[in-house]
Amino acid sequence: MWYSNVENFKNANGYTIDGIWYPRVTSIISIKAKPALYMYYAGLPDFKTGEAIKTKSAAEGTLLHETVEAILRKEPIVIPETIKPAVSAFMDFYSKNDVIAHKIEERVVSKKNNYAGTIDVLATVNGTMGVLDIKTSQAIYRDYSMQTSAYIEAFKEDLTLPPLTCWILRLDQARKCLKCPATMREKGGNIKIRGEKTKCEHQWSEVRGECEFKELKTFESDIQAFLACKTLWEWENEFWLKKI
Ligand SMILES: [Zn+2]
Repeated sequence: MWYSNVENFKNANGYTIDGIWYPRVTSIISIKAKPALYMYYAGLPDFKTGEAIKTKSAAEGTLLHETVEAILRKEPIVIPETIKPAVSAFMDFYSKNDVIAHKIEERVVSKKNNYAGTIDVLATVNGTMGVLDIKTSQAIYRDYSMQTSAYIEAFKEDLTLPPLTCWILRLDQARKCLKCPATMREKGGNIKIRGEKTKCEHQWSEVRGECEFKELKTFESDIQAFLACKTLWEWENEFWLKKI
């Protein structure tokens, strides 16, 4: 990445909290290679198409985050038509589980390890407290646990909190073929069909919401991986970090 000056670098990669600058968890994690992403870009006509899909899809993800977080805050909301199936799937989960949100979209800081991040939700779910991260992807990827482990590690510095677990709450929506296992998703204006195993003249269902709730139990190895990323990230950005 290219930055014109140190302020530019600081704004792009971190937060200033009480006069101290901390690198952001998501920036640190971005140092890890993502081979699946290269494959994704390779399958598109050009780089610009990929960027356009990514931007639009990020906006859709933000809308879903904001809607779910408003529900957790018990604020009155109008659910946008485009994300109704995913929100209904969430409402179904929410009505069947005891979810109490303590903090939503809040900054967490590790003074010990020098980084900061923004959590989606700190919640108690069915009696257990933990970090709840909302994802709007079509699967739960292993990289997510590295991000949440960083938040848990930072929360450990708050001695008023009990030991925390963490969960990924994945929300998505798709059409399913009524005749074969294929699914069709529309993301960022791009239609993607997956899981086509046999020749089939697909007959698509209405858009159905998906809600997957998974506890991640690999904290010890995840935090090691995160701190290793941080070392690598600091090496990569040594030029700028020396100026701060
Ligand atoms: Zn089919």
